Amino acid sequence: NSFQQFSLSRPLLRALASLSFTTPTPIQARTIPIALQGLDVVGSAQTGSGKTAAFLLPILERLLYRPRKIPTTRVTILMPTRELAVQCHSVAVALAKHTDITFALVVGGFSLREQEVILKKRPDVVIATPGRFIDHMRNSASFTVENIEIMVLDEADRMLEQGFTDELDEILKTIPRNRQTMLFSATMTSNVDKLVRVGMNKPVRVSV
Ligand code: AMP
Repeated sequence: NSFQQFSLSRPLLRALASLSFTTPTPIQARTIPIALQGLDVVGSAQTGSGKTAAFLLPILERLLYRPRKIPTTRVTILMPTRELAVQCHSVAVALAKHTDITFALVVGGFSLREQEVILKKRPDVVIATPGRFIDHMRNSASFTVENIEIMVLDEADRMLEQGFTDELDEILKTIPRNRQTMLFSATMTSNVDKLVRVGMNKPVRVSV
């Protein structure tokens, strides 16, 4: 019962070792094999369960395993708050420290103009709050979502509670349909189910 069982690339195993992550948490043990197959996942899990690494590791593995010649944004991770996005970004940077995968944090409190400059460089992974993400998706000529392959909706129940329903619908409609989608939520409300129905493709359900 270790991270070796998932046959992750060496740079990821090295990062896990230096973070002293030796044993996968239950959500990691159940999510990682499914996500590595490219399947959609709906996870019922709380903050503190290790769900951040549960979705980040399969994402990073795919980026390493299937590199692209031309830089383009391939992954978007949406979180309900700036604080959660900042935390997710720092875990992502730590897990990817032996790779050349690039990340952008797109949240309120930084200037739109500065973020446009960052997005123009086509970071592999954009970690964002829904409001900011949609601002760029609608208005930045230099930011395109057409090559996004993986989308994560983290703490989906909280994003809906915060009134991001329309934003999430618009984002799910705009990002290419043949993507992989992962959704995590502490509670499975009827609104979360609706999001799963409209935005996901035969998801595998995992609960811990
Ligand atoms: P999360 O639920 O993703 O916010 O993670 C909660 C905490 O658990 C974070 O401080 C992580 O650094 C830590 N963590 C996540 N996965 C593991 C693991 N496999 N072993 C030890 N600590 C972990």
